[in-house]
Amino acid sequence: LAKDRGRARYEVFDDDLRYRIHQRLDSELALRDAVDLGEIETWYQPIVDLQNHTVVATEALARWRRPERGLVMPGDFIALAEEVGLIKGIGSTVLGQACRAATALEQGMAVSVNVSARQFVQDDFGDVVKRVLAESGLPPERLWLELTESAVLEAIDSAARTFQELRGVGVRLAIDDFGTGYSSFTHLRAFTVDLLKIDLTFIRDLESSDHDRAIVEGILRLADSLNLDVVAEGIETASQRDLLRGMGCRYGQGYLFSKPAPSAYPALLVAP
Ligand code: C2E
Ligand code: MG
Ligand code: MG
Ligand code: MG
Repeated sequence: LAKDRGRARYEVFDDDLRYRIHQRLDSELALRDAVDLGEIETWYQPIVDLQNHTVVATEALARWRRPERGLVMPGDFIALAEEVGLIKGIGSTVLGQACRAATALEQGMAVSVNVSARQFVQDDFGDVVKRVLAESGLPPERLWLELTESAVLEAIDSAARTFQELRGVGVRLAIDDFGTGYSSFTHLRAFTVDLLKIDLTFIRDLESSDHDRAIVEGILRLADSLNLDVVAEGIETASQRDLLRGMGCRYGQGYLFSKPAPSAYPALLVAP
């Protein structure tokens, strides 16, 4: 009997695993055509000056409009795209859409595009960025690139060269999700960056946690001594904003100001 039960459990597990493998394969196949079928969209979320709510930039966020499934969030396809070698096509699609949208705005604000470590280490990444800038007509100073550290960056030297090359033409570079991930400090040492984005997990409990406040103050002091700008991510309440203002954090982003939206210049929800 015990053996039968064991076997039944095994089959249930087996079915579950088979189902998940099937789902993944199905997604991978669909994702392979997503760029060509025009299913990759770019949504935007404003980055504001915390003092007066002037919009200084807008962050480009990928969405996959998958037929019969609706809007798929990056958390559900970026990692897969990285694993199966599709991030390059998706990344340059988003980069192109973002640069064209920012050029069309003529508001003088920047667009901030996420770039995964895997894109950065590609030999031609610098050329791809320069070509997109030339084709869209966006001044390089109005492009920010956010290095997202979802994985350890192996080829750190070649990535650092690409960083320098792009900074040389005027592109601004940011470390995304600062304080989490694999190697915030390694990246800070290896690359000359312009901006840190404080991860939203440090902002969430800012009002109640002395501990998180101390960490954020530490990051702000560090940024100050390195002469870097700082964006606090995930600001949801006015009191989080006020605390950050008081600590001297210049820029912020979050649902308080606007959720990501299909328009490159979403209206702000709150007054300064
Ligand atoms: P991220 O770059 O750190 O982007 C911020 C994420 O936080 C976005 O999620 C945004 O919608 C969400 N967010 C913004 N404000 C708030 C808030 O007040 N509260 C909360 N709880 N969340 C907030 P999203 O759009 O789902 O993107 C998730 C991640 O996927 C991004 O994190 C980024 O790492 C990655 N990603 C998005 N687009 C791309 C892309 O084009 N290329 C690459 N390589 N990665 C991308
Ligand atoms: Mg980002
Ligand atoms: Mg982030
Ligand atoms: Mg993130």
